[in-house]
Amino acid sequence: MKIVALAGGVGGAKLAQGLAQILPSEDLTVIVNTGDDFEHVPLYISPDLDTVCYTLAGLANPETGWGRVNETWNAIANIERLGGQTWFRVGDQDLATHIERTRRMKAGQSLSQITRDFCKAWGIHQVVIPMSDNPVRTIVETDQGELAFQEYFVHRRCEPRVKGFRFDGIESAKPEPGILNAIKEADAIVICPSNPWVSIDPILKVLSAPLVSSRHSPQIQRILGEKDGGEAKKVVAVSPIIGGQAVKGPAAKMYRELGIAPSAFAVAKHYQNLITGFVFDEVDAKFEPDIQGLNMRTLITKTLMENSDNRRRLAEDVLHFIGNQL
Ligand code: GDP
Repeated sequence: MKIVALAGGVGGAKLAQGLAQILPSEDLTVIVNTGDDFEHVPLYISPDLDTVCYTLAGLANPETGWGRVNETWNAIANIERLGGQTWFRVGDQDLATHIERTRRMKAGQSLSQITRDFCKAWGIHQVVIPMSDNPVRTIVETDQGELAFQEYFVHRRCEPRVKGFRFDGIESAKPEPGILNAIKEADAIVICPSNPWVSIDPILKVLSAPLVSSRHSPQIQRILGEKDGGEAKKVVAVSPIIGGQAVKGPAAKMYRELGIAPSAFAVAKHYQNLITGFVFDEVDAKFEPDIQGLNMRTLITKTLMENSDNRRRLAEDVLHFIGNQL
């Protein structure tokens, strides 16, 4: 079964790794958010791409969910000693990734080409594609003004109250060409349990770009439904919200601050016009009738991915669920 997975960082990487354990590598394409990318000291940093790649390569730090395993911190300690900026923690091995990526970008290579080369060097056999080679920058509109995403997320530790989001550059950003082909050939699309507001929405908006639409649905459903003669493709999302909480990060806080109670139901509603199936946790079983009322199939299962085994088990559940819909 050919799968295209849409992913942000941590939650997306975990499910991508589960899927990678089951599917033949040529059957998995992971499309990754680049709205969190930024230039810092002055390196080009692509946090979600790195998290997905390090995780698929078995190089990720299992405790933090970001950065490298067995990392050392000599460079940042020395930058601190010299009075430089250290709010964005970059380990020594991670630093090498950013330096080499920045060098290649300055030499005119595209982010997708660099990602292909890095994946090869790291022994990743799946296809990993940044959502676009054009810059898109997520801006968080808050009670303390507009903040670049990493300024909000890392420097201000998600403390400012969120009022909305903007994705600078989204109107002119085109999906990387390989993405549309991968989607066309896919049997199904899996929306990983990533943050809907700042990880998945930018990807969906970029995918909508060829249709010149300001909202991602229902037009995007047409792109996703292009397979052989227009039969609608299965699109399945996995909830990042379990028991009203995010497993990690500000997703639940964002829902609350936007006036929406964070829940599996709220996530299903977020993707209502796009998805055909929704996977959520057993602790949220009470939402099943309401979610089915949104005109989608449901799968209730254990969705916490604490280790490699339960990443694989959730991926198996998701693939069976899709198989039953095909
Ligand atoms: P970020 O860009 O690094 O914040 O990464 P993502 O957007 O991919 O991941 C953040 C989301 O992943 C959060 O909303 C978490 O609730 C979700 N998440 C992390 N781990 C898990 C997990 O084990 N299970 C589920 N269902 N969601 C998870």
